[in-house]
Amino acid sequence: MINGKQFVDRIDALQNEVWIEGKRCEDKLSESAPFKGIIASKAELYDYQCCSEQQELFSYTTHDGEKYGFSYHQPQTVEDLINRRKATQSWARLNGGLVGRPPDYMNTLVMALAAASPHLSKGERPLGENMKALYELAKSKDLSITHTFINPQVNRSISHYLDDATITAAKVIEENKDGIVIHGAKLLATQGGLTDELLVLPSGQTLDESFIFGFMIPSNTKGLRFLCRESYRYRESSFDHPLAARFEEGDSLVVFDNVLVPWNRVIIYKDFQVLSDLDAETGMYAFLQYQAVCRQVVKLEFLLGLCEAMCDAIQISEFEHVKLKMTEIIVSLEIMRALLLSSEVNSEINRYGTRVPDSKPLRTANNYFAKTYPRLIEITQLLGASSMISLPTEDDFESKIKGDLGQYLQGANIDAKERVKLFRIAWDIGMSAFGSRQTQFERFFFGDPIRLSTSFYNSYPKQAYHDMVQDFLNSKK
Ligand SMILES: Cc1cc2nc3c(=O)[nH]c(=O)nc-3n(C[C@H](O)[C@H](O)[C@H](O)COP(=O)(O)OP(=O)(O)OC[C@H]3O[C@@H](n4cnc5c(N)ncnc54)[C@H](O)[C@@H]3O)c2cc1C
Repeated sequence: MINGKQFVDRIDALQNEVWIEGKRCEDKLSESAPFKGIIASKAELYDYQCCSEQQELFSYTTHDGEKYGFSYHQPQTVEDLINRRKATQSWARLNGGLVGRPPDYMNTLVMALAAASPHLSKGERPLGENMKALYELAKSKDLSITHTFINPQVNRSISHYLDDATITAAKVIEENKDGIVIHGAKLLATQGGLTDELLVLPSGQTLDESFIFGFMIPSNTKGLRFLCRESYRYRESSFDHPLAARFEEGDSLVVFDNVLVPWNRVIIYKDFQVLSDLDAETGMYAFLQYQAVCRQVVKLEFLLGLCEAMCDAIQISEFEHVKLKMTEIIVSLEIMRALLLSSEVNSEINRYGTRVPDSKPLRTANNYFAKTYPRLIEITQLLGASSMISLPTEDDFESKIKGDLGQYLQGANIDAKERVKLFRIAWDIGMSAFGSRQTQFERFFFGDPIRLSTSFYNSYPKQAYHDMVQDFLNSKK
């Protein structure tokens, strides 16, 4: 397991091609303003996993006596899943669940794919061996990985995909003795360019087999470009931007400019059947959702604590409707916790010996949270009212107006500076650019919520309930 410094040194040494605000980032990523906050926050996670008190939770030991990070462990028992949950949530508590892509998110995917490696070898090439080797590499170096699955949004109409000439989605344009050559783009990659490696899988329209590929490559591979959106880390001050200054992750469009992916890095290739059975065989989406729901529970704990502190600061919890709003947050938290536990209790061992959490409660949680989170953010805004707006900066509190601020912005039981500090968190979670992006992330990070709901309906085992009603109708009573 690496520590924070090892992570930072490695990212800086890669010199990934990262573009932001009109320029290629030439500085060390860990020292450049848009990225330094999230890189430091991730370094904190790596340091945390290395501290002696956390060793038991954050590591596991293999038969050969080597120690590795918890997220690479193939769970076989419910106890293993519970340990995984505890470690994921301990990491999430360091950032209030606001870092959407902590290292365990992708490590978990790599574990699930490698554990089901025979499935990837079902086609013409034994690509499962590549997956196993990539897993060993990631595990032994404790690599950080991000991913990009989605084709650019240029034109979502079905007819677009019938017109080959206009397609911008990354595709295989050549196959040679060294590997496959990819050209085109994918979106988005949260933390794109800020991790050691990039994992790519197909998702969405696959017009023909040239769109069916999966691989993992170093982020500094020749021809790989990360085109970042504007940074929402507008200021250095963690008083003024308490969340954005530390947790702004960045999102990028990923351009593959004739990128050569060596054969030993390819894990899926032109095999429609392997792709269509991928989730059923590996349990990968259940694992990703499991990690996400663990994090979202922590985010709800943070939101509940924040709103309670806000109510306390301006003494509004005696009002009936405030209690009702707070109860909405509590109910959401308890629903998400219960769904998480249900996924553990009803987990099953798959044919590769991996204990996969039950996807039904996790898909329910995913469906529910995408709709509920924006409402809970609305509650934060409604409770805060003008406190979400009257937010002087750290510099104001050092200026000649500090007397006025101290007098007129004090809370019921806290001084003005402490009160502003608290409500700046509420503003940064619910109203700043960083906060709006958090809401958009929770709606979309796992895919389009509309199509996720439709596919949940399609795959949900409904027949038994249909039969139940039929039996009732047929009963003579
Ligand atoms: C903050 C953020 C971070 C992200 N991070 C990552 C990441 O790290 N890695 C990654 O791979 N992806 C990431 N994503 C991308 C995410 O997976 C996509 O946003 C999601 O899959 C939806 O795709 P889209 O944005 O192209 O929207 P679209 O699919 O284009 O949808 C746009 C609208 O059109 C509707 N629509 C489009 N097509 C259909 C259809 N066929 N049937 C019905 N309705 C349709 C949708 O319902 C939606 O309302 C991120 C997204 C966000 C917002």
